Amino acid sequence: MKNIASTYIALGSNAPDKMHFLQLALNQIHLEVGTIVTCSSLYATQAQGFLGDDFLNMVAQVQTRLSPQELLNVLLEIEKKLGRVREGDFYSNRTIDLDILFFEDEVIHSKHLNVPHLQLHKRNFVLHPLNEIAPDFIHPELKKSVKQMCAELEKLPIQKIDTVLDQPQLPANKRNYLAIEGNIGAGKTSLATMIAQDYGAKLIPER
Ligand code: ADP
Ligand code: MG
Repeated sequence: MKNIASTYIALGSNAPDKMHFLQLALNQIHLEVGTIVTCSSLYATQAQGFLGDDFLNMVAQVQTRLSPQELLNVLLEIEKKLGRVREGDFYSNRTIDLDILFFEDEVIHSKHLNVPHLQLHKRNFVLHPLNEIAPDFIHPELKKSVKQMCAELEKLPIQKIDTVLDQPQLPANKRNYLAIEGNIGAGKTSLATMIAQDYGAKLIPER
């Protein structure tokens, strides 16, 4: 049984309907990646490095059983699913960017994946939302807290937005008990343990 890991994911969009795309991405992350523990507020920033529509950014803490590489693949798939929208006869630009900021305190440098994200300590639109939900998290390579990195940033205009997205809910929030029955050796305990972890519920092994 794979252990649950905590990861921080940055979501960004500069599509015309940014809020909608962020909500769709969040819902999809909830379905395909794992439980969304906390979401930051939304932050608006001007496009940096090119002329474009303003960006809307946020960060979510997610509990997942995926490995970092599996997580990257799932995020790229979600980007692909949401990132291209039919507009008449042609496709518009990418509408959603999903980046892995931290994965527990793992350090990964491979061809397709760098964790912690290489740019995170330089980006206002990442550090501000991250600072809201994980100010004391320590960057495993720079050995600095998010709060510290945020304070050291060059100040660029960034605006916190009042609107909040709907946090996808687990169906179990509506139930008090879940019973699992089955033959000896069928894997009831493993399944029940995983469900209890996912839902933050108490496990009652035998009755
Ligand atoms: P950016 O997010 O810097 O605007 P892209 O989203 O276009 O750039 O970059 C996508 C590529 O970045 C992915 O194909 C992936 O292989 C690579 N990458 C490396 N590290 C990460 C990470 N921590 N999170 C997301 N993508 C990453
Ligand atoms: Mg990206």
